[in-house]
Amino acid sequence: MLLGIESTAHTFGVGIVHRGKVLANEKSSYTTQEGGIIPWDAAQHHVDNCAEVAAAALAKAKVNPKELTGIAFSQGPGIGHSLRIGALAARCLARTLGIPLVGVNHCIAHLEIGKQLTGMADPVLLYVSGGNTQVIACDAGKYRIFGETLDIGIGNLLDAYARHLGLGFPGGPKIAALAASGKKFVALPYVVKGMDLSFGGLLTHMKRISGGEHAREDLCYSLQETVFAMCCEVSERAMAHAQKGELVLGGGVGCNTRLQEMCRVMCEDRGARAAWPANEFLVDNGAMIALLGEKMLAAGLSTPLEKSVILPYQRTDEVEVTW
Ligand code: AMP
Ligand code: MG
Repeated sequence: MLLGIESTAHTFGVGIVHRGKVLANEKSSYTTQEGGIIPWDAAQHHVDNCAEVAAAALAKAKVNPKELTGIAFSQGPGIGHSLRIGALAARCLARTLGIPLVGVNHCIAHLEIGKQLTGMADPVLLYVSGGNTQVIACDAGKYRIFGETLDIGIGNLLDAYARHLGLGFPGGPKIAALAASGKKFVALPYVVKGMDLSFGGLLTHMKRISGGEHAREDLCYSLQETVFAMCCEVSERAMAHAQKGELVLGGGVGCNTRLQEMCRVMCEDRGARAAWPANEFLVDNGAMIALLGEKMLAAGLSTPLEKSVILPYQRTDEVEVTW
């Protein structure tokens, strides 16, 4: 019976799993009207809400803390201020209950839960979240990054542009709503460099042309079409190169139905399968941390207290996949 804590950025999440089954997945997320994440405020949000979220998860799963056999937590990558609160809560619980602690990589947790909930064997993950944009697949004992953003994450682009439009945070769903009534496609910079992507210049361009001749609906529509096409292109190339027949989505931007549709069409055209878990498991969540923690503990991996320091810059391919 594993309890997992997610706190890499805006979300403090607690999940409880038992033998690969999710019993609870509770969360509280930091939001703002103005847009953006202020790290110190996000951390304070986690301090204020951690006990309540953990209690809600235990109640939902109908589990007594004494029944827990391990505590998993997001060790990295992420915002240091936020990560520290989850790590502290995890250490306290593990020590108080006298059970093992296991630090997990947040990006790999997205991949593992996607794999598990869609029944895929060996997919390419298109991981599209606020801070991360990566195309990941397993190769020779590690999850390798085949392509990634060279600057900001795709969600960060959407959030920053939404902030520019005064739409609040998180901005992805607000841009999606405006895009739904966009009609005219406005050509925008399309920045794919080999297997990598870049969104920083595109954000500057969007800010420059906003308020001009184009309707904001058309701009949001064109922005989505452009950045999702970029993501599909690098995902398809990774699938071809790594010879994988499955594509799974992870990260909050994976909730976008237009991105889902584009991935589905791309995969159908090449005789591959595209799938994604329900939205609550696409956004940052505690269940994915608990699921990966359970796999790692079963494989004999745990994290001693002195090695439980947060790893804000941990890379996906630094982790040996031995589970
Ligand atoms: P995560 O960091 O994985 O929790 O994902 C958060 C990011 O997902 C934020 O940048 C949101 O703006 C974005 N997001 C959430 N829902 C949607 C959506 N429907 N379309 C596009 N982006 C979204
Ligand atoms: Mg994430």
